[in-house]
Amino acid sequence: MDKDFKTIPPIKKTFMPKFERFEPLARDATCITAFKQCDRKYFFSMVLGFRVPKGGVMIYLPFGSCYHVFRYELEVQFKIHGLNGLDKCLEPAWKEAEKGWPGNPTPGSSKWDYLTKEYLLVSCLVAFNFWKNEKINGIYEILAIEQPFEVALDDGRTSGGKADQILRWNGDPWGRDFKSTGKSPQWYERGDLDPKDQFIRYTHGESGLIGEDIKGQIVEVLFHHKVTKTHDGKPFIRSFIVGYTPSQIERWKREQVIVERQIDICREEDVWPAKETFCSYCDYHSVCKMGTERGMAAKLQQNFVQKHWDFKNIDNTVER
Ligand code: SF4
Repeated sequence: MDKDFKTIPPIKKTFMPKFERFEPLARDATCITAFKQCDRKYFFSMVLGFRVPKGGVMIYLPFGSCYHVFRYELEVQFKIHGLNGLDKCLEPAWKEAEKGWPGNPTPGSSKWDYLTKEYLLVSCLVAFNFWKNEKINGIYEILAIEQPFEVALDDGRTSGGKADQILRWNGDPWGRDFKSTGKSPQWYERGDLDPKDQFIRYTHGESGLIGEDIKGQIVEVLFHHKVTKTHDGKPFIRSFIVGYTPSQIERWKREQVIVERQIDICREEDVWPAKETFCSYCDYHSVCKMGTERGMAAKLQQNFVQKHWDFKNIDNTVER
């Protein structure tokens, strides 16, 4: 565990007391979203730190991680080779990206079986050409990459995250977040942009980091798809803009105080109510179905990996 990773000591341990606890002191969008989805999901994932292993049917997780590494390394290489050496950036960036690849999924093993290393390479090439065009045309000035932040909220508690990029666009500072998805652009736009805690949290946090009002987020999405009768399967990139006014940020800050108080109540009582409306989307469905506390604990140990959630040090290695 990183020495800078700070946890909240448990006040009471009555629910699943045999497990060690790692509730993060600073909460990022993943933490808060887990709590909003279901209090018990927050307990399993953030307090106990049980996570779904990333390999196997969850191949889209290492796919996304490797793609992030590629984008990060392109900027690192750009600092070395500059505008006249753009093509020299490709190979070292790919070499870093492929290090985290866990091995191709078995054909037919899941709907994500097309996410192979070859498909990752094609995706990275698409991104490379997109990036190269951006550099040649001088669209953005990159101010920071992979920058962790921890900033105070109104009640003195801490909001955190890790910004993929902070950049200047037409004179204004913006955050840029890289995503990859198997959804269509229409579905992505409908369900994954605003309102979304991550984007407003990053806008607030990045403003604290650079001491200027960040205007919002440029969400740059790599869309991937399986080859079907109606789809050629080629990955492509599209950017979406999510802007925030100062009054939206203020309202979000007030809401955070309330959410934090709700988490306090659960922690003080060590009672983490189930929110059944989310169960059909939840990774812990097999756990909660067990009913008894003993059965649930056994399922957690059997099917999950226990590792604290440290947003500043996301571990890209693949658990099986
Ligand atoms: S399965 Fe349902 S009750 Fe259990 S953690 Fe998930 S959302 Fe909560």
